[in-house]
Parts: sequence; structure tokens; C-alpha cells
Amino acid sequence: MSGFSRTVNEMRTVLLNPGPVNVSARVREALNGPDLCHREPEYFDLQDAIRSRLLQVFDAPADEYTSIVLTGSGTAMVEAMIGSGVSANGRLLVVQNGVYGERIAAMARLHLIPHDVIECGWTEHPSLDAIASRLRDGRYEALAMVHHETTTGLMNDLPAVASLCQRDGVRVLVDAVSALGGEPFSFRDWQPDAVACTANKCVQGLPGLSFAIVRRDFARAMTGFPERSLYLHLPRHHSEQERRSTPFTPAVQIGYALRAALDELAEETVAGRIARYGRASAIVREGLVALGFNLLLPPSLRSTTMTAVRLPREMSYGDLHDALRREGFVIYAGQGPLAATLFRVATMGDVAEGDYRRFVRVLGMSVARA
Ligand SMILES: *Cc1c(COP(=O)(O)O)cnc(C)c1O
Repeated sequence: MSGFSRTVNEMRTVLLNPGPVNVSARVREALNGPDLCHREPEYFDLQDAIRSRLLQVFDAPADEYTSIVLTGSGTAMVEAMIGSGVSANGRLLVVQNGVYGERIAAMARLHLIPHDVIECGWTEHPSLDAIASRLRDGRYEALAMVHHETTTGLMNDLPAVASLCQRDGVRVLVDAVSALGGEPFSFRDWQPDAVACTANKCVQGLPGLSFAIVRRDFARAMTGFPERSLYLHLPRHHSEQERRSTPFTPAVQIGYALRAALDELAEETVAGRIARYGRASAIVREGLVALGFNLLLPPSLRSTTMTAVRLPREMSYGDLHDALRREGFVIYAGQGPLAATLFRVATMGDVAEGDYRRFVRVLGMSVARA
């Protein structure tokens, strides 16, 4: 191997994609825990620790909320939440303003759950009046929405929508896969019924495990809902986890890493992490604007953890990606109809401010060449 390629290969790649993220040495080293049978008490100690730490770090009161871990990516938990969270006669309202909202509607369709979709443009908030008037129909048992639409980096107004739902007695199911840990979230104030998330975005664990934080009364109610999937039936996982069991083989080592990541998050605190991600996105956004890029969203709609950038006409995403990759940075393409016109920069994970500054410099050199 030539000296040059060795240097490139050994250089730490900075992941600016929205998960999986760069993790700390402590989280990676946790993978080296002992081989373990998942039917032995040591595994259930690990599972119990993860479940209770989730409630602690996210400040979900343990008398009101419970947590459930699932082996599978974030989509698995969102699908488990949607597929398990509507009763036999229930109807779901899906709020859709991006790829992940579309995915929730697709899940409802595939699980044969009666549902309607409220759609709006991908760079705006859905109208609260429109949602309120749908909810007043009295036809809906639950509403599902994405908290942070990773498609565009747009923060939906979950607190306002949740309070409309509570007024009308409609349950709130949230895809917070790219939000929890990186964006403000209040279980106490917003009282969501179920919130799905993953280990490997703002929680800074490794891919392979997802989790949900669910109201205890909702977890109980779900046991009476139709079983629409064998593996993704949440009450099965919950009731087994409650009695120190697990229905299937879990990702044990990824669990070690998740426990370490939750310890790390508890030490940093969620507020501290949000502030750190905020400094990172400020560096990236100021740098991009100074280089002449246009950001997709106005500041009032932007999340902390994702920046969607308009791709200048003279630049191809592939060339830009490859030039940055050679310098050790991975950016992310736009999705769906935005694939040709956007690129995205996530500011999640164990990445130093200096890395974001170097990214801006390297991007500047690519712009100068283009
Ligand atoms: C990443 C993401 C998902 C899907 O997560 P996977 O781990 O890729 O399955 C779902 N919803 C949102 C909002 C996301 O950002």
C-alpha cells in the first residue's frame, strides 16, 4: 500500500450524514464486553439498565412512562409503534411533510390501518387550523407525525399539535428518530403517547437497536389491539421486557454500546448536547452562507442537527461528495424530489468543532475549483 492511500484510509472519516454517527472511543470499546447468552441474568441487567436510563436521560417520569428496546433500525421501531398503536376500530391521522412522514403513511397502508393524510409542502409547517378541524371530526384515535423531518431539516411544531390532540382525546405517536438527544423534547409538558427513536443518531450509540418511550396506560391499551406483525408487535416486547425476558435474540453487543452511550449522554446532559450541536450547526451554516450557498429553510423552521443546502446549478452532487470524501468528510444527498437540488449536512455525533471548521475550509476549496 502506498503511503498516500494508507494516510487516507487511516484518517478518521467525519460523518455528516444523519446517522449512523461518529461515536466516542468509550462507546466503541463497550462492544468488547463479554460474550453473553441473552437468556442469562447478565443480559437482563443490561436490558433493565438501558430501559431505566432512557427514562432518566430524557426526563420521562417513570410513573407515567415505560421504555421498550427493539433490535432493528429506527424504521423498525417506527413501524412497530404504528402497527401496534391503533385499535381494531381506530383511525389514524398522519401528518406528512417529508420522506419520513410518507414512510409512516406507507406503514399504515401496509398494516391495513384505516388512515388519512394531512399533507403540506416540504418546506412549511402543516396548518394547525387544518389539523384542528380534522381532529374535531372525532374520527381519529391517534395522530402520527415526525418531530424533526430529516428530509429537509425542518422542526415540526410537535408541542402545538400535541396540545390540539390532547384537547380532543387523540393519541400522539411521534417519530423522533433524528430528534431525541439533539433537539429539545419535553415528555412532561407535551405528554406524547409514544415516541420512537434509534440508538445511532443523537444518542450516539451504534446502529442495530431502536427504542420507544411509551405512556404506561397506552402500553396497557395496546395489548388489546390487533397483532398485525409477529416481530414488530410492541406489546410482545414490552411484556417480556417487563418480566426480564426477551422474545427474540437481541443485539447484545450493540446494547453494551447503547448503555455506554446513555451514560455519556447523562454526563453531557441532553441540554449540553443540544448546545454542542447548536455550536456545530452555527459553524456550518455561517461557513456555508459565507461561501455563497443558500440554505433551504428559513431560520425559524431549522432544526439543530440538520442543514439542507441548495446545490448550485454548476455543481454536481456526486463530484462534491467525492471531493469531500477524499478529504475525510461524508455529506448526504437530498431525498425524493429534492435529490437533484440539495445536499445535507448533519451536525450529530462525536465530532469536534475543529472538524466542522475544517469541513467549511475544504468545502471552500471545492467551490473555488468548481
Ligand atoms: C433516520 C430516520 C428514520 C429511519 O431510521 P433507520 O435507522 O434508517 O431505519 C426514521 N425517521 C426519521 C425522522 C429519521 O431521521
